[in-house]
Amino acid sequence: MAGEPQDDCLFCKIVAGGIPATIVRETETTLAFRDINPQAPTHVLVIPKAHYENAAALAAGAPQIAADVLAETRAVAEGEGLESYRTVFNTGAGAGQTVWHAHAHVLGGRGLEWPPG
Ligand code: IMP
Repeated sequence: MAGEPQDDCLFCKIVAGGIPATIVRETETTLAFRDINPQAPTHVLVIPKAHYENAAALAAGAPQIAADVLAETRAVAEGEGLESYRTVFNTGAGAGQTVWHAHAHVLGGRGLEWPPG
């Protein structure tokens, strides 16, 4: 069921403390931790603690938590001292999504080109 923890979900396991992560920030509804395979000097993932399979499902099912995630991307960037940064939600396999729990990438600390690959 949308919002409920999933036994086979990596990020639900991180939320539950079953898999270690380098936590950057935490709120009642969100968790921010460093990406295990960073693509920039700052690469932090901001996730809802509740399980939604991607940003589209989160926006449809829990718009307030989606807003919380977005607010946390700003807080992460500020905490990392980033004036410029990129927030990315990969939604669907064709867009590069590999973990099926909604997450925002916060990338910064180097020049970022556009368009992305
Ligand atoms: P996606 O490709 O947009 O779904 O992003 C998934 C991200 O999760 C990738 O950037 C991975 O490097 C990252 N990732 C996968 N496993 C872990 C982990 O255990 N800890 C932190 N980040 C992870």
